[in-house]
Amino acid sequence: EAKGEKHVFQAEVNKLMNILINSLYSNSEVFLRELISNASDALDKIRFLSLTDGEQLSSGSDLGIKIKVNKDEKTLTITDTGIGMSRDDLINNLGTIAKSGTTEFLKSFQASKDTNLIGQFGVGFYSAFLVADTVTVISKNNSDKQYIWQSDSHGSFSITEDPRGNTLGRGTSIVLHMKEEAEEFLDEKTLKDLLSKYSEFIDHPIYLWTSNVVDKEVALTDEEIAEEKRKAKEASKVEFEEDSETVSLDEADKEEEEEEFDFPKTKTVKETESTWSTMNEVKPLWTRGAKDVTDEEYKSFYKGAVAKGDYNDPIDWIHFNAEGEVDFKSLLYIPGTAPTNMYEQNKEGGHRGLRLYVRRVFITDEFRDILPKYLSFLKGIIDSDDLPLNVSREMLQESKTLKVIKKKIIRKAIAMFQKMCQDEDQTKYRQFWKLYGSTIKLGVIEDASNKQRLSELLVYQTSKSQEPSTLAKYVERMKDHQKNIYVLACEKIEECKQSPLAEQLHAKDFEVVYMVDPIDEYVMNSMDRYDGKYKFVNIAKEGLELEQTEEEKAAEEARKEEIKTEFAGLKDWFKQKFPTQIERVVVTTRLVSVPAALVSSSYGWTANMERIVKAQAL
Ligand code: ADP
Ligand code: MG
Repeated sequence: EAKGEKHVFQAEVNKLMNILINSLYSNSEVFLRELISNASDALDKIRFLSLTDGEQLSSGSDLGIKIKVNKDEKTLTITDTGIGMSRDDLINNLGTIAKSGTTEFLKSFQASKDTNLIGQFGVGFYSAFLVADTVTVISKNNSDKQYIWQSDSHGSFSITEDPRGNTLGRGTSIVLHMKEEAEEFLDEKTLKDLLSKYSEFIDHPIYLWTSNVVDKEVALTDEEIAEEKRKAKEASKVEFEEDSETVSLDEADKEEEEEEFDFPKTKTVKETESTWSTMNEVKPLWTRGAKDVTDEEYKSFYKGAVAKGDYNDPIDWIHFNAEGEVDFKSLLYIPGTAPTNMYEQNKEGGHRGLRLYVRRVFITDEFRDILPKYLSFLKGIIDSDDLPLNVSREMLQESKTLKVIKKKIIRKAIAMFQKMCQDEDQTKYRQFWKLYGSTIKLGVIEDASNKQRLSELLVYQTSKSQEPSTLAKYVERMKDHQKNIYVLACEKIEECKQSPLAEQLHAKDFEVVYMVDPIDEYVMNSMDRYDGKYKFVNIAKEGLELEQTEEEKAAEEARKEEIKTEFAGLKDWFKQKFPTQIERVVVTTRLVSVPAALVSSSYGWTANMERIVKAQAL
């Protein structure tokens, strides 16, 4: 075998491979998921190219993945007819890791040995070294000759032009020379089970070279025919003897003659035959009706095809068929794990959670602006019938159709949140709010056209509700003569509960909304009124006037007069004592059990806002 040129791996790749080669983790089986996922990506790429350039498929139009075991050589080979890799691609893609954050990834991977991290971080190819000590990659791209890449993982790989010429047509063949401990993966049954797990949602056909025992009809030999004849005769004699009383001789003769022809001329034998068996059914889940898909199917579709690296169940999903201005199908998920920037954002800061298909052909998952920032945690599928198949990524940004799609997606997503919010069982909504509440608040501030809808999703702990409560519920509980929504912002709930500022409200049995998220006060300021009617009143501000019943009004007037004279002296003393520290001293009926409180002027910042602004400036 030709040795070819030697190349050394990038230091990070080397380090990763060393960890992989020296370990056989209990879930080393993920190599299969990763290699199939790469094959599927490569098939998507050639299919995408062929939309605008039919010539691309002249090197082969069958798109699929074939998997074959060679027991004698102890190899497992995964072959796809995807885009393939040129010589340069092989060197660049299978020798370096371009992703940022590699060092952190390696650190956490070494510590946790969590093989899921491999897929999440996008270094799936190297998982081949979990099960193989030598990996050979044969690849043919339309732009180049066929090359062989090979590595035994010891710091380098070789590249050779394939002396056999172009045997693939187009695509990639990955040959895994299995480690002894990984020989179980050469077993057909094991592979079948794994494939049913990892190939379910791959939208290209996957074939496994399988040996099937089949029944085969073969002609009898002369000897066998003689034997069959003898047996048939024997049987008819017995029959004749048994029936002798009722059957005449003539008839018996006749029967015997007929029975001469009545024996098998062929026999069935078991034979082992090898064929390509299809492992998956290629019918995209989102094209089915929502009623025909079970919850379990939605969940495994999420983990297998949508989330790429998130192996937790989604919190919820919405599957719909939009018709009218633009026709499209969509399936949107709320991930059960909040995305971390490191894994989710692509280089341009775009969104990667949504996969766009045009008439079931995958187009891209690299969108900019398909979702507003506050919804960028959503993942899912959009399949449009109205976009041209040859749409380019640049055209997408400008597309009117996509703008309509975007608007509908936002509405549907909000509707999904509202449904959870109104659900009697609040388990899902709590989880949702914990992960994405702050993001939704950002939406209230930023998305003017959905402000009202989004504000209905806000939930807060209040003086009357331990559980987070919507503002609509607050309004329901309001006193008849109450017109405002009273809020108090603090750093912690405990602080809100003990605040003297709320005393008077407690005394009047007015409910107070507790806000402890730094963004809350901004949200409130951006809304002004809830539901267009109920004004937010921050009780940490000066000049708080609570709605009063007629009796309360009369009583307060009298009391005010009384204390004005009573405390005139004290007021003067305060002014002299703190001439610069306080702006004004007011005698008030606001406080119930404490003698004095510091409040902010109605136009200034509340103490809480001041705290936030200071923190941001640091
Ligand atoms: P990722 O798939 O996240 O990019 P991988 O480590 O799995 O990371 O693969 C690295 C790169 O190698 C891929 O991006 C692709 O360019 C190339 N590659 C891997 N497998 C194939 C394949 N079967 N066909 C074509 N290119 C491939
Ligand atoms: Mg990959």
